[in-house]
Amino acid sequence: MDDYEFVFVPSIVTIDGNIEGLGIYSKESLAFDALKKKISENWSSGYKEAQLVMWTLDSDDSKAVPLKHMSANVCPICDERTFWTDAVEMNALCYLPACQAWIESSDKEMDKIDCGWPPIGYTSQVDTLADALSSLRNYGAKIRASVSEDSDIFTHRTLLEEYEKSIEEDSTSNLEE
Ligand SMILES: [Zn+2]
Repeated sequence: MDDYEFVFVPSIVTIDGNIEGLGIYSKESLAFDALKKKISENWSSGYKEAQLVMWTLDSDDSKAVPLKHMSANVCPICDERTFWTDAVEMNALCYLPACQAWIESSDKEMDKIDCGWPPIGYTSQVDTLADALSSLRNYGAKIRASVSEDSDIFTHRTLLEEYEKSIEEDSTSNLEE
C-alpha cells in the first residue's frame, strides 16, 4: 500500500455562502477533476467560489496550502456568469459548454498571456490579464453585434448560429461577386 503524505481537498461555495465539500483525494489531479466536474455539471446553478487545498497528513500544521482559488465572473464573450478565474495560477475558463473562452499564462513565452475562444479557433497573445480580458470582450462585442436585434431569447446558442450564418452569407456573397 502507498504511503500518502498529502491529501487534496476541493470545495465549492454557493451563492448564499455555504461551503460544499467534494471529498478528499490522494492526488491533485483527481481532486481538480472532481471540482471541474462539479462546476461543469452545474454551470448555471450559481456557485460563486471554489477552492482546492493541500493538507499534510499526520501534521499539526493548522494552515492548508492553497492550490486553486477560483471565482465565477461574467464571461467576456458569452455574458453568462460562467467564467471561472483562478487567482493562484492566474488563468480562467468559461464553463458554459458552447463557449469555453479561456485565458492562460503562456508556457512558451514568459510574461505573456494567451487567450482564446474555441468555437471558431480564435486565439491571441497579450501582456497582461487585463489586456486578455479586453481582447476577449472586444471579440465578444463583435459577435454579439452580428446577432439580429429581434432575437427574443438571447442565448449563446442563437448567438453562435447567427454568427455562423453571417459567415456563410459573407462567403456566398463573395462567390456571387
Ligand atoms: Zn463564456
